[in-house]
Amino acid sequence: MNTQYSVDEQGEHVSLVGLGPMGTALAEALLKNGHSLTVWNRTPEKADELVAAGARRAQTAAEAVAASPMTIVCLKDYETMYRVFDRAEQALDSRALVNLNSGTPAEAHAALAWSAERGIDYLDGAIMVPPPLVGEPQAVFLYSGERRVFDHHRARLSDLGDPRYLGADIGLAVLYNTALLDMMYATLNGWLHATALLDSANVPAQKFAELALGWFMPTVVGYASLAEQAPDLDAANYPGAMGTLEMNLNALEHITRTSDEQGVWSDQPRLMKEIAERAVTAGYGLHGYRAIYELFKKERSRS
Ligand code: NAP
Repeated sequence: MNTQYSVDEQGEHVSLVGLGPMGTALAEALLKNGHSLTVWNRTPEKADELVAAGARRAQTAAEAVAASPMTIVCLKDYETMYRVFDRAEQALDSRALVNLNSGTPAEAHAALAWSAERGIDYLDGAIMVPPPLVGEPQAVFLYSGERRVFDHHRARLSDLGDPRYLGADIGLAVLYNTALLDMMYATLNGWLHATALLDSANVPAQKFAELALGWFMPTVVGYASLAEQAPDLDAANYPGAMGTLEMNLNALEHITRTSDEQGVWSDQPRLMKEIAERAVTAGYGLHGYRAIYELFKKERSRS
């Protein structure tokens, strides 16, 4: 980063702890929006360019927190946050921490309890874009925790992207984050496995992409769109009139067998086939494919 940002007189004081790739992108967005920024990182040299661009370098994490009403934390994980801040208890009191590291809902709840013991206003959050998109209006940031805290800091958080408040349950931001990543990886794996099937017949990925993505968007995402199907999931309504789960099981069996025939790794379609088989065994054979949602939900009560 070579830009020299001037700190707007109106810009508010914000601190940021953690200057990995993501923390650095957050810092750049805050500077660009005229905030008076104080930063701290375990490896201090990572702040050099930010300091050259107008940020102030704190000598300790405690000093960074003391410098601003709100500190954004973007460290590797919750354990790292505890390690960094447990040396800074005095400065944390009456401050707000907005923690953007990834984790689990249980970890977020533990962090809220940890914050409450120290008199800190705490918001948990998750970032849904890679570093280059931070600061763009469409960059989705998820937040959960006390509404009062979110509303108080909303303007500053808006400078990082599009802040979405999800509710008072502190675990919601990381739960949404995990659910969206779950969807992303499952979709990517489907695309990559399908491309490997075509590769087994020497069809280049680029050629397959033209047909596959042109088919997928209007047919799978657009037609009877996923959003339109959501009320049926809430109502546990899985009509099989347009195709039963048993019919879909047949398709999954073909994908598995074709993968074996073509020498393509078949564990992934086999798992999907096994899920559908279990749903048929559970009595959903004549329902629509989406009835496997019941299977996913029921796993909750097993664990
Ligand atoms: P990261 O490698 O997850 O975190 C790097 C930061 O953690 C650095 O500030 C690093 O300090 C610090 N750190 C690690 N171990 C430490 C320790 N023992 N003591 C003190 N500080 C320690 O890199 P990142 O990409 O910036 O990610 C930060 C968070 O954002 C993660 O939770 C990640 O899941 C989340 N996130 C990242 C992305 C992305 O695309 N990068 C996207 C969404 C969410 P040093 O610089 O001194 O090593």
